[in-house]
Amino acid sequence: MDTDRRITIVGAGLAGAVLATLLAQRGWGVDVYEKRGDPRVQGYAGGRSINLALAERGRHALRLAGADEAVMRQAVMMRGRMVHFLDGRTDLQRYGRDDSEVIWSVHRGELNVILLDIAQHAGVRLHFHRGLESVDFAARRARFVDPRDGSAHEAQFVSLVGADGAGSALRAAMARQADLGERTEYLGHSYKELEIPPAPDGGFRIEPNALHVWPRGRYMCIALPNDERTFTVTLFLPNAGEPSFASVRSGADARALFARDFADALPLIPDLERDFERNPTGLLATLYLDRWHLAGEAVLLGDAAHAMVPFHGQGMNCAFEDCVALAGHLDAQPDRAAAFAAFQAERLPNARAIQAMALENYLEMRDRVDDDDYLLQRALERA
Ligand code: FAD
Repeated sequence: MDTDRRITIVGAGLAGAVLATLLAQRGWGVDVYEKRGDPRVQGYAGGRSINLALAERGRHALRLAGADEAVMRQAVMMRGRMVHFLDGRTDLQRYGRDDSEVIWSVHRGELNVILLDIAQHAGVRLHFHRGLESVDFAARRARFVDPRDGSAHEAQFVSLVGADGAGSALRAAMARQADLGERTEYLGHSYKELEIPPAPDGGFRIEPNALHVWPRGRYMCIALPNDERTFTVTLFLPNAGEPSFASVRSGADARALFARDFADALPLIPDLERDFERNPTGLLATLYLDRWHLAGEAVLLGDAAHAMVPFHGQGMNCAFEDCVALAGHLDAQPDRAAAFAAFQAERLPNARAIQAMALENYLEMRDRVDDDDYLLQRALERA
């Protein structure tokens, strides 16, 4: 095979699998190295139902990769935000005028499995249990370690693509070669996932075709539907103050908070204490880089390049757009350094804009969607 059309991707998550497919479909030889085991064999790590909002930006990439149909079979439509007021009233704020303007809730684990199947079918070579440890850029050799037994495996590469998420090991290796202008801004708020199980009759306990929001000023709860008739609830709280993850520490504390502030949600979450104590508390941060590539040797995309807070539901969608852009530039431009530079020039300003919108949307979702003026304005827009 022509070595100029070979590429090595680190990370078989959402972006890694889509980029691999897009390139393999264009005749590239693609190797993907993933730290975890194959989720198709051992189930998705964590086992919990974690879902993501998929928007048109992301669906465009899935269509190009030939994955949209399979993904949409398990997606649940969300027509708008269902706002839950403190007094128990609810209000559906539609995203668009009709069902042609909606977003979709997709199961992260099922999505990853579909994307891996499609990648493999396209001829991508997938290597699981291979966590990138270090890179010798001069010799173009990468060293991977099997987390199960610590054994080391080396691989020669033409170029490396970092699709290894917010804690990217490739980014750390690149930063040892050149200043990437990296900075991380922590939000000072964190999150915890909880679950609403199916109703006793097997159906959904609340309106399935909506993204539910319980806005409470400095904090909030959201819930997205899963096709198995559950909802993944995410509680967002500050790290300090009252209430916060510093003051709400135990399952009993969480129950008291819900009884006071999310009273209509409380009976929907029977295992609140268990979920709260068992599930990790996730940090929220925005990652900014001034440089996404090292000449033609390595490039970053998705969360590895621009992790963002989740309030616009666009991290994955933006990562999928990156995949389409990078595959296009690599295909059009045989000089890797030029292709990576063109990719960065196209996508970095977009990523910055989406990162800013994601931060703004936290204020809107937790504070403004239950504001009377805001509701009046939305009602007039819909009229
Ligand atoms: P990841 O999905 O993180 O994949 C990285 C992969 O690399 C993983 O498989 C990992 O195991 C692997 N890896 C890591 N280190 C190594 C290594 N050293 N060697 C080899 N492999 C490695 N986005 C949306 O669009 N909509 C939403 O509704 C949404 N909701 C979110 C809610 C929360 C609470 C959070 C935290 C994020 C949310 N996001 C959402 C963002 C979305 O999850 C990310 O933007 C998306 O997962 C990025 O994809 P990725 O492929 O870049 O990284």
